Amino acid sequence: METKESIESQIKEYAKFFLKTEYGDRALKKLERFEIKAVDAYDTGGVSEVTDKEIIIAAQRDIVAGKLTNTTKLIIRHELGHILDENSPAFPEFEEEIEHEKIAWRNAKPRNAAENWYKTVSIRTHIDPLKMQTMGFPISGRKVSSKLLKQGTKMELKRMRKDSPLPDKNLAKRFAMMNLVEDLNFYG
Ligand SMILES: [Zn+2]
Repeated sequence: METKESIESQIKEYAKFFLKTEYGDRALKKLERFEIKAVDAYDTGGVSEVTDKEIIIAAQRDIVAGKLTNTTKLIIRHELGHILDENSPAFPEFEEEIEHEKIAWRNAKPRNAAENWYKTVSIRTHIDPLKMQTMGFPISGRKVSSKLLKQGTKMELKRMRKDSPLPDKNLAKRFAMMNLVEDLNFYG
């Protein structure tokens, strides 16, 4: 079994390797401003994040698995993707935040269908990819169909209209996706 410390050093190595091979020495230099920390937690509460001084990565899954897992590698690349995003605002509006999430995912260079699937659902729902994995995704049988999503979006819009004269269709869609990923029968 790996320890938090040994996973943490693997995370550091992986982060350096990714920045250097994909983006070169200048990008690698950006890492010097940050302290990379592994925390003994699952990522269900959105634990992995970048602050102005730290990159925090939830590493419980890797400690249990005894190695740096592929999902964590993707998360590391996503968080580095935020660092590479020069124009990331400190206090973004909601729409801006989604835009910068997309940029971070693009910078993370997803490599295969599974990673792209995480990326797409993460952008749509803002659910952390690790949380999705703990819920058993990606499993094709539990993918949300466009019909279900349409129905859920309609229900969310209806709910939003009660509180606001200007319901947001994109936001409704994200709420619907988030609820359906957790429970396909949420609106049923
Ligand atoms: Zn992000």
